[in-house]
Amino acid sequence: MNDEFNELLQKHQLKKTAPRISVLSVLKSREMATSQPELEEIIGKQVDRVTLYRILSTFEEKGIIHKVLGLDGTANYAFCSASCTEHEHHDEHVHFNCTVCKHIFCLPDSQIPVVNLPKGFKVNSLNISALGICDKCTLAN
Ligand SMILES: [Zn+2]
Ligand SMILES: [Zn+2]
Repeated sequence: MNDEFNELLQKHQLKKTAPRISVLSVLKSREMATSQPELEEIIGKQVDRVTLYRILSTFEEKGIIHKVLGLDGTANYAFCSASCTEHEHHDEHVHFNCTVCKHIFCLPDSQIPVVNLPKGFKVNSLNISALGICDKCTLAN
């Protein structure tokens, strides 16, 4: 399991450190995007807040993870699928926001519509969210 993360860090010329590996394994193991406070809770005191913040921004810069905004504007992070790291990090896919449990899910197979821009406009990122109720919340009702 750790080999996969070592290889990933190596590929991005990042030193492998225990905190980096922990962040990767938490994000990889979760099917939904994770906010920084949630990560702090899961990882615990072994990684301090500043280190965690730096790890997240480095990973985001390298295209290992991507940021998704929650309904209330909090930043959540999700592991990028292999296909999204292969192409030069255009992780433009639709996200699903569950309005009940507030979890955010990546929908990497969903197609993003083509955006027709007026002359002189340039898109840096595209954020498309579907709002609804996830499978678990549907079952719970
Ligand atoms: Zn839900
Ligand atoms: Zn995503």
